[in-house]
Amino acid sequence: MDIRQLYQDVIVDHNRSPRNFRRPETIDRVAEGYNPLCGDKLHIYLSVVDGKIADLSFEGNGCAISIASASMMTEALLGKDESEAEALFKDVHRMLTESDFAADPAKLGKLAALAGVRDYPMRVKCASLCWHTWLAALTSTGAEAATARTE
Ligand code: ZN
Repeated sequence: MDIRQLYQDVIVDHNRSPRNFRRPETIDRVAEGYNPLCGDKLHIYLSVVDGKIADLSFEGNGCAISIASASMMTEALLGKDESEAEALFKDVHRMLTESDFAADPAKLGKLAALAGVRDYPMRVKCASLCWHTWLAALTSTGAEAATARTE
């Protein structure tokens, strides 16, 4: 089995049919993310109930990596409690930025498909945009949209 091809297929699939791509009827927390290097724009909608991620969805326009990453993130985080979600964020961030970090497929699941992105510094921001935006939504208070911007 060619792992690179498998990962490529996962990204193509999530870009073609993004999961949880919707705006909820009532918005609990929302953040807007923008990656000026590529032009990716995302809204992340989040609802936390009893410390658990009860709902998570997104809308936006962007390249295949940014959309696939957001789609996979929503699948990975739904149902997790806040501390599990933050731990996963840290693992994903390391996977995307540290060349010697060995992604644990048992922990990262499909998200490991994005590991190859770290060889392309411009693409790292595409893949991490949704995560920074999610964190902005998580730490936001009130109904006003928080914003995240990749540097
Ligand atoms: Zn992009």
